[in-house]
Amino acid sequence: KIANPISFPAVTSNLSENVILTTVDDLYNWARMSSLYPLLFGTACCFIEFAALIASRHDFERFGMFPRSSPRQADLLITAGTITMKMAPALVRLYEQMPEPKYVIAMGACTITGGMFSVDSPTAVRGVDKLIPVDIYLPGCPPRPEAILDAIIKLRKKIANESLQEYRQTEPTHRYYSRMHT
Ligand code: SF4
Repeated sequence: KIANPISFPAVTSNLSENVILTTVDDLYNWARMSSLYPLLFGTACCFIEFAALIASRHDFERFGMFPRSSPRQADLLITAGTITMKMAPALVRLYEQMPEPKYVIAMGACTITGGMFSVDSPTAVRGVDKLIPVDIYLPGCPPRPEAILDAIIKLRKKIANESLQEYRQTEPTHRYYSRMHT
C-alpha cells in the first residue's frame, strides 16, 4: 500500500494503516507461512493419511514444513483422530507449550465432532474446539492427503492476511478448556 503524502497526518492517527507496519506484516507473514513446523497429534486412523502426505508422492516439505517432536519448536498443531477425555489435559498442555503465533488444523470427523463416538461414548471429546481454538476444520473419514494439502494452503492464505496487532486479540486457551468442565 502506497501512502499519500498529503494524507500523512491521517497515517499517524491510525497505526494499522501505516505503510511501514503493513510492509512488516507482509514480510513477517511470508516468513511464517513459508516455514510452518507442525506438531502431529495423531491418535487414530486419520493419521495414516497424514503419513502418506509426508511421503515422497505428495512432498509436503516443498511448503517449508518439517514435523517437530517438541511443541516448543512447533507453530502448527494437527490433531488427527479421536480425542478422549483422558488425553484432553495432555493436548491442552502441548498446545500451551507452543510459542505464539500458533495454529490448529482439526483433521477428520472424530477430531471435529467426536465422529462415530459422538453418539454414546462416555469418553470421547465431542470436538477438539472445546479444548483449544481451531483455525481450519478438515472434514472426512479420513480426509485424503490432497485434502490435507488443501487445508494447509488455506491456512497459508489465512496467515498471509493476518495483522500482528489483530493476532494478539485471540482468546486465551485456558478459557476453552474450562468451558468444557463447566
Ligand atoms: Fe478414523 Fe474416520 Fe475417525 Fe479419522 S474420522 S480417526 S478415519 S474413524
